[in-house]
Amino acid sequence: MRGMNPLNRYRTWCMLPLLVGLLAGCASTTQGSSDAAQRQQLLLVSPQQMDRMTAQAYAQSLRQAKRQGQLNQRLDVLARVRRVANRLIPATGAFRADAPGWAWEVNVIDHPDLNAWAMHGGKMAVYTGLVDKLQLTDDELAAIMGHEMAHALREHSREAMSQALATDLTINLGVQLLGLGAGVGDMVSTGADLMLRLPNSRRAESEADRLGLELAARSGFDPRAAVSLWQKMAAQSQGKQPPAWLSTHPSHSQRVAELSALAQQLLPVYRQATSGRDPVVRRAP
Ligand SMILES: [Zn+2]
Repeated sequence: MRGMNPLNRYRTWCMLPLLVGLLAGCASTTQGSSDAAQRQQLLLVSPQQMDRMTAQAYAQSLRQAKRQGQLNQRLDVLARVRRVANRLIPATGAFRADAPGWAWEVNVIDHPDLNAWAMHGGKMAVYTGLVDKLQLTDDELAAIMGHEMAHALREHSREAMSQALATDLTINLGVQLLGLGAGVGDMVSTGADLMLRLPNSRRAESEADRLGLELAARSGFDPRAAVSLWQKMAAQSQGKQPPAWLSTHPSHSQRVAELSALAQQLLPVYRQATSGRDPVVRRAP
């Protein structure tokens, strides 16, 4: 009998803990009333590993922006996005008890791109181009930030990395993450790079739309702003290169129709959250 070739033997041994992980690694990161919070997820990469990778990737992003003179140059925009974030964060507790206590961080990149993102654990960036070019109301800003925060709450990047591990395509990374291979420094760099490159699935986008909009409504932001936001985004992409945010969040009429229906469903939540507030103050840019 011919022996197994060394690479295959290596892979078999590496797959063993992965298979054990597959059996043990399914859970939902969130809970609560939204059906977007319920789905079971494959979570092989530990939160601690994600924290290390995020710390490196976020610090690197901020360093690069600072070097280019683009970090928090617009204090008016910075104050505004942090004010919106500070209203959204307490409502995250409806979906997971630990989230209001996370070290959430929002910084503003002074760049004309229409872009915003959130990394694992709520490390976020909003680009001035998004706020300026779309002339966002606070409600629209909350729709976009709620969507990004929902990706963090659902840990979609941890899930995407876990799925990449499970496919064996990134077996070397798997070996490192499981502590069977090279040094921790290499693992963090490779993982951080992969984390930034893995796109969110359409299912993850739909969950972020639904959970994010409920988060906004619970925080007293008008959920109908998600519809006007998408209309503004779509107008920007006509005849030009689509906005950066749209390259990872493709717009289509079905999505707008779904958001529109969802916004109507969430109106009672929004109205309850805003009862007693002055609507003029709420909508001020
Ligand atoms: Zn998204």
